[in-house]
Amino acid sequence: MDAAPGTYVFLLHNKTPIAVRVGRLREILFEPGYYLYVGSAFGPGGVRARVLRHCRRQKSLHWHIDYLSAATTPLGAWYCHAATPLEHDWAGLLQAMDGLLPILGFGCSDCQCVSHLFHTAVQPDLAQFPSLCSTPLRTLSYLSCPAQETNVKSELSPLLRRESWG
Ligand SMILES: [Zn+2]
Repeated sequence: MDAAPGTYVFLLHNKTPIAVRVGRLREILFEPGYYLYVGSAFGPGGVRARVLRHCRRQKSLHWHIDYLSAATTPLGAWYCHAATPLEHDWAGLLQAMDGLLPILGFGCSDCQCVSHLFHTAVQPDLAQFPSLCSTPLRTLSYLSCPAQETNVKSELSPLLRRESWG
């Protein structure tokens, strides 16, 4: 995965119900389960840099997703390097999927989508949805967050963790 731009679905896990203040005024109760956040990255560093930012729990809080990823366990992202942003199309596709519920108004202040964040009780596997990557049809790639960036205790040594990441 290089610095190419593209569109991604970032996956987070939440173990217990938590209320998170998102932005300055709004507090949202996040139920346990998995959260899927749709975004695109067309600036410097591309998808890789953006996904790694989402993985970091220590960061300045700017976007809605920053507040959620700082309070839950970031897991990784499905992505593809399509030449045009597909985030709004993908948000629509996820909204139509069984078992995914939109968190109304999250991450979509600048567009007409219902939401860019979706909740599901069971662990999703978007690799099974190649149509998300538009034409030509391809399966999505997946990038796991570095183990040391999550709050999940790992049995692996630091060396093994670096190898599994690099
Ligand atoms: Zn949108």
